[in-house]
Amino acid sequence: MKVLISDPLAPAAADTLRAAGHDVIVKTGLKPDELVATLQGCAALLVRGATRVTADVIARSPDLRVVARAGTGVDNIDVAAAKQRGVAVLNTPAANAISVAELTLGMLLALERHLVAAASDMRQGRWEKSRYSGRELHGQILGLIGFGRIGREVALRARAFGMDLVAYDPVLGAWPPGFDWAARATSLDALLPAVDVVSLHVPLTPDTRNLIGAAELKRMKPDALLINCARGGTVDETALYATLSSGGLRGAALDVFSTEPPGDIPLLALPNVIATPHLGASTREAQDRAGVEAAELVVKALARLPV
Ligand code: NAD
Repeated sequence: MKVLISDPLAPAAADTLRAAGHDVIVKTGLKPDELVATLQGCAALLVRGATRVTADVIARSPDLRVVARAGTGVDNIDVAAAKQRGVAVLNTPAANAISVAELTLGMLLALERHLVAAASDMRQGRWEKSRYSGRELHGQILGLIGFGRIGREVALRARAFGMDLVAYDPVLGAWPPGFDWAARATSLDALLPAVDVVSLHVPLTPDTRNLIGAAELKRMKPDALLINCARGGTVDETALYATLSSGGLRGAALDVFSTEPPGDIPLLALPNVIATPHLGASTREAQDRAGVEAAELVVKALARLPV
């Protein structure tokens, strides 16, 4: 069957589809009309985050049966429209957990050892040794909000640094086996004042929008750190700015923003904030894994179609 790959993916994704006997077209950067034209005769579409699979694209692509996203969310796919037309939507939520967890620990180390400011000073010829005394992770308490795939990978790595772990995840039924060394917080209110670092690992839902707002920031220790490598919108950025600029928190590291790119927001100019442009899943390994897993899902889904 014909399959279109319309975003840059690891070559192994196309290889996986071809090995299963499919005819693969790789065309990236297509405008909506070009996407629809290329999709004629295609049974499946593989995307990453750039291609927008709108209701219009789905309606005008009658041969399409499967859309797969090499990545976690499916924000760029109109899932309701796909469902209505019997088009399966698939994704690879587990493929980038290790990459996001590693970035989270990287953010934490960067905050505690002033890596960004110190490296920038060195680049400008400044040797500010006494200015950048840091803090060890060892012995600190890390509070995780969300204890799913990424939260657990973060916990394992933080434990290796000698941190103590507390996690809050009211949606989770049973505590995952093998994680009894991580304490379970009964409420967000109980977790926030008890930890030295808060790191978010929840999806953005109506329940988690602005989960960390002015009231929650106030409950945190004034010398605590906040990390968001999850989803923009889970932290109220205006409240975070007010808290950080009035000494209510020691620092924050952000990989995700309520609007991306966030533009010239004052939060990013604060000296105790470090930020990255949604890089959590941006590693060669995560992208390779996501591309291959998405291709494998497409192969399985196409095999189930009636001939
Ligand atoms: P997951 O589904 O495995 O885990 C999420 C956990 O959050 C679940 O255990 C769920 O029970 C919990 N949860 C849901 N609502 C909650 C609430 N109100 N309070 C506390 N916990 C709640 O997802 P994951 O793969 O671990 O991903 C976590 C987040 O990381 C998602 O938002 C995902 O989009 C994001 N992410 C970011 C990047 C990046 O580039 N920065 C990359 C991949 C994933």
